[in-house]
Amino acid sequence: MAGIYVHIPFCKSKCSYCDFTSYPDKLCYAEGYMACVYREMAKRSKELKSYKFDTLYIGGGTPSVIDEKYIAMLIASAKKNFNLAPDAEITIEMNPGTVSESKIRAYKKCGINRFSVGLQTAVDSQLSDLGRVHDLKDFIGCAKLLKGENFSADVMIGLKNQTVGDIEKTIQTASDNGALHISMYALTPEDGTPVYTDYLNGELPDGDEVAQMYGAGVEKLASLGFERYEVSNFCKDGKKSRHNLNYWRRGEYIGFGVSASSCINNVRFTNTFDLDEYFKCILSDCFAVIDSEEIDREGQEEEYIMLRLRTSDGIDLNEFKKLFGCEFTEKYSVQINKLKDSLDRGSDSIKIKDEFLFVQNSIIVEFFN
Ligand code: SF4
Repeated sequence: MAGIYVHIPFCKSKCSYCDFTSYPDKLCYAEGYMACVYREMAKRSKELKSYKFDTLYIGGGTPSVIDEKYIAMLIASAKKNFNLAPDAEITIEMNPGTVSESKIRAYKKCGINRFSVGLQTAVDSQLSDLGRVHDLKDFIGCAKLLKGENFSADVMIGLKNQTVGDIEKTIQTASDNGALHISMYALTPEDGTPVYTDYLNGELPDGDEVAQMYGAGVEKLASLGFERYEVSNFCKDGKKSRHNLNYWRRGEYIGFGVSASSCINNVRFTNTFDLDEYFKCILSDCFAVIDSEEIDREGQEEEYIMLRLRTSDGIDLNEFKKLFGCEFTEKYSVQINKLKDSLDRGSDSIKIKDEFLFVQNSIIVEFFN
């Protein structure tokens, strides 16, 4: 089974930390853009005829900022052009400042069964620092509209003036309001964003403080019954994100829209990041791919190890042998021995110990050194 991703690059305004492909001032292009996405889907349908898809993820940007009729047409187009399983997980990302009762009703009607809500923090002054268009009240209102639905909340750590207590409050708020899944990410101050100035001025928590925040967040999540299944992802009642699990398992996926990337048959390709260029390509009946790379066997193996070590299940030794034709523990015995204090070795798996999961990046770097 493979996944479908669609990128909707429009937002109400630009958040102070954002370096995603998103445009705060181009909502007027939404209709034309969506028509191009439907066209891109139709153009890809033939080559993906033999594929079965069991997830559709509508991300951005802010997909909830555009009229719901375009989302309904998008899902209809995905169903028309691809073999999308009847029980597919269909997720939409939403900003709490852009939702309404009628929008959510329309989403449910067209088959959306998972909602990913950008809460980020339950502290209004921090939301305002981040340039978010919503406040805590908006999140609570949005959560009320999603009552009984499978919804996820995004939580950020490492914010200016953020305390461990703020993180615990944010997680508690998300849980109290019905979130069954929480993604907890550390703020990355990207060069060129306003938050980068805060970073240069030493106004953001340092690495040790962020690690402490993460540890406190993990504890709080565990106390509320959230199970960690990937370094940044936690869920209740087994509500893992099927779409993201596919990425971490090196599954195949096809992306549509500006900046979307795909990986089909071990070829990774990415669409242009430029909106005008995207329009130009699709309207002249071409694809908008700007970069394409075939992943060789060695690359596949490396990716598999990197992605699997991010997850709490770790590397499945039997699966590794089936995929790559060798014993992981023999081929990588030197690395396993070097990192033995950070790894948990079971009979069928090897994973990073829970207490080291947050620093998995440096462990993975050491693994490949
Ligand atoms: S809502 Fe998301 S994509 Fe849009 S500007 Fe903010 S962080 Fe970027």
